[in-house]
Amino acid sequence: MSDIRIIQGNQIGGCVTVISTCAEGVVHRIMIDYGSSLPGSDTTEDFEYPWADEPVDAVFFTHYHGDHVGRLMDIPNDVPLYMGETARQVMINIQEALAKLQDDEGEKHKRVLEVLRDDDRVHTFHFNDKYYDHVTGIPGFKIEPYSVDHSAYDAYMFLIEADDPKYENGKKVILHTGDFRGHGRRGKAMLPVIQYYIHKNGRKVNALIIEGTMMSRMEEEVKTETRMMYEAADYLRDHKYAFLICSSTNLDSLASFYQAAQMAASPFRRYLYTYNDYYRIQLKTFSDTAGGFSDVYQFENVYRLQLDKELQSGKWKKPMTQKALMERTGFLAIIKPEDWCEKYLDPFIEDYKSGKSEMDQMPVIIYSMWEGYIREYSKDENGNKVENKAKNRAWIDFLKRQEGKGVELKHIHTSGHASPQMLADVIKAVAPTDEIYPMHTEKPERFKELDIGEYASKIVEI
Ligand SMILES: [Zn+2]
Repeated sequence: MSDIRIIQGNQIGGCVTVISTCAEGVVHRIMIDYGSSLPGSDTTEDFEYPWADEPVDAVFFTHYHGDHVGRLMDIPNDVPLYMGETARQVMINIQEALAKLQDDEGEKHKRVLEVLRDDDRVHTFHFNDKYYDHVTGIPGFKIEPYSVDHSAYDAYMFLIEADDPKYENGKKVILHTGDFRGHGRRGKAMLPVIQYYIHKNGRKVNALIIEGTMMSRMEEEVKTETRMMYEAADYLRDHKYAFLICSSTNLDSLASFYQAAQMAASPFRRYLYTYNDYYRIQLKTFSDTAGGFSDVYQFENVYRLQLDKELQSGKWKKPMTQKALMERTGFLAIIKPEDWCEKYLDPFIEDYKSGKSEMDQMPVIIYSMWEGYIREYSKDENGNKVENKAKNRAWIDFLKRQEGKGVELKHIHTSGHASPQMLADVIKAVAPTDEIYPMHTEKPERFKELDIGEYASKIVEI
């Protein structure tokens, strides 16, 4: 007998899946993701998994977002961890930066680093030029990782075969999608992967566990990553001095803005500046990994913001500060919407206003993260205005203050999650014979409204 248990599935983030089976009379379990609830969710305290009473053989991570890996350190240290190789490096980069913090915080992150670097405990998925090797060492299970497109790079869905005499060939076949989308650069591969790998040799999927973030964000526009890139290029053609707010781990959107800046500056190059070295390291990791698959993911000419730094070049008569060079050539500069980043904006605003520099236009800020962080209010079920619980007060204040100085704030963003149409397409392509478990969603009941015909009757209440 096998069993599927979804914990905190009816919220966005912090959901955990436990699949159990019996092999030679012994219960074995695997867990998929162990993250923290996202700010703004109703959960203030995450549940405690009963590690001692219901031990798990291994934890598999779909991707590196906090709502999936955030509680890594609560996992007992004898439990093996499985994740993508690049995902592991991205997490190491984050923890290395945080470990530099003084006091207890830094110490905490040093311990996380130790775990992530532990080759005996952390197993990464191995790509053999065609697909990822199957994980077979856990009694009662076979796990097949498949790459999916999400706002986290190196994200996976898992096809799991769990021993269960009730099913054909004695295996229950389960597909866990993790977070995914169809509108990213690699998103269109998902349906063919389902067709050729998931259904290989006529294999049927018995249970589908699928994310449904966008079921409660139906009003959010889902544009393709490529369309967003062209939108950004159009905007950057008119705005030579642009600051950007974008997650350091959202490779696809970073690539979109980087490429957009190059299109806007063509035939010249536009340099990318970052507020710290951590961000540059993350981009280098992406250039070294994803960049090997496609030039779109290659980031060149990335510099740390140091406005007063004196630069030399054989082409110049005398040295120039970084700020003067940025004013001459234009720039795309990544900042955080936090007070300490004002020191990067103000000198440009002052130079433009004083008319003493080469600047002929004001700098602008592009915001490319989820709107929910900077919206004061949202609408409830009945369309009433309610305070938005996910908002970040400091960010809202920062952005308002910049707008007060005359800086234009431009929203250019696309979601990391599947549109309702894509969810329906995936359900129909997977064609689960028995059950559909919606998860990572505040509105699991809306899955019934998707255009999925007979499959609507297979939706399990979570
Ligand atoms: Zn998530």
